[in-house]
Amino acid sequence: MGTQGKLIQPRDIKDDAARREIVIPWTDGHLSRFPYQVLRGWCPCAECQGHGGTLTWQEVPPVGFVKVQPVGLYGAQFTWSDMHGHGIFRFDYLRELCCCEACTKQRGGKPPRPAAAG
Ligand SMILES: [Zn+2]
Ligand SMILES: [Zn+2]
Repeated sequence: MGTQGKLIQPRDIKDDAARREIVIPWTDGHLSRFPYQVLRGWCPCAECQGHGGTLTWQEVPPVGFVKVQPVGLYGAQFTWSDMHGHGIFRFDYLRELCCCEACTKQRGGKPPRPAAAG
């Protein structure tokens, strides 16, 4: 991880409640879609992941979206309907989790698996 140079930023972070997805248009023109469950399941916080260093998928009951807050200029923090909101998603991490059609195709139709995952 850790791409050098200009950081790609979200232009916006939107909730598509009908599809239960977070939608992020980026400054480089990419349009990301993330099912709530993908973001909740890959929550990077210590409570979800322990202190092992590698990320693992967390199977949790379906959640709704409550709110999102910016974290500095590098990430965002989502709060879910199970009132879990500790995870700080760096923008480069979010891009790895992108579930848009193009990114899903690039992964051969597989669900996202971040580079930091074991
Ligand atoms: Zn968490
Ligand atoms: Zn994408």
